[in-house]
Amino acid sequence: MSEPKPDSIDNIHPSLFFEDGDIRLSANTADGSRQVYKLHRFVLCRASQVFKDMFVVSGTERREEVEMPDRAEDISPLFEAMYSPTYIYALLNTASKIGHSLQPLSALVRISRKYAMEDVAQAVMSHVKAQWPNTLMDWDIRQGVQSVIRASVASGDIGHFRAIFPDPAASIVFAQEFDLPEILPVAFYQLSSINVDCQETDLFYRDLQWRVLDADTLLRLMKGRERIRRYCWDKLFWNCFDLSGRTHSPGCYEARTSLRKEMVSEPSFVTGQIDCLQLFQNTISTARNTWNLCLYCKGSGLLAYIKETRAELWDRLPEFFECKPSQAPVVG
Ligand SMILES: [Zn+2]
Repeated sequence: MSEPKPDSIDNIHPSLFFEDGDIRLSANTADGSRQVYKLHRFVLCRASQVFKDMFVVSGTERREEVEMPDRAEDISPLFEAMYSPTYIYALLNTASKIGHSLQPLSALVRISRKYAMEDVAQAVMSHVKAQWPNTLMDWDIRQGVQSVIRASVASGDIGHFRAIFPDPAASIVFAQEFDLPEILPVAFYQLSSINVDCQETDLFYRDLQWRVLDADTLLRLMKGRERIRRYCWDKLFWNCFDLSGRTHSPGCYEARTSLRKEMVSEPSFVTGQIDCLQLFQNTISTARNTWNLCLYCKGSGLLAYIKETRAELWDRLPEFFECKPSQAPVVG
């Protein structure tokens, strides 16, 4: 019996059509054409229990062509991964450079799980996780890199930026769908410090995907932003470092007054759209370089207070943004 030839709208997949393959598969593409594959049953069964069941258990082993219910764009990377395990890493590398949308990666995790290829899903999730810092020191390094890129990259060429900094809104949606709670506090924080109306003002985040966030997530974002604002207000303005009970230099009093002034005069602080970790960092530099602090305040006093307040803010991000250790649905 001769093998059916692909008709005019069929496209033979350039790298997934093996002459010595023993199973033909097809899948529709987004533009309505059909992608045709010729693969090896052994490879499919070895990589995925779902294919094994499909071919052996359900009795389809003798069928010559299997029409896949998935889109060709989704299933092709999975087939590629079956033949070349390093394919996924090359794909992740390229995906980061194309743009900071996580949609293609989300599709890959979904289809990997559908076909019980958890190793592929885990590779993608590890990649997304690694794009977000998990300590304050990592965050500071990341922000330093960000400011260098912002200062040096010519307008219009934001590829470098996107390669390193994923869209925080898209990352939140990704983390919620695939239960990656580790990145939620920092992604929420990053998003909270970006001006909602940033299309005009921030070239790097002008196409940020605000619209992918649902109402509950937006509410969490707003609440978290307000809690951070209140925390900073309380720590740096209202209950700012107690100078009583010790002899200080005039610079210490001046520093405390300046901190309070800075807080009320910072327009973005009023709306809460501010990177408070950066605000604290700037305050520490100003305190070191500008104010003539007493020895105590330079060491374990005022400066240490600001540093501790900053570290506490980082530690409390999960609480401020209501991030639970796992996003898996709670019964009851
Ligand atoms: Zn002092």
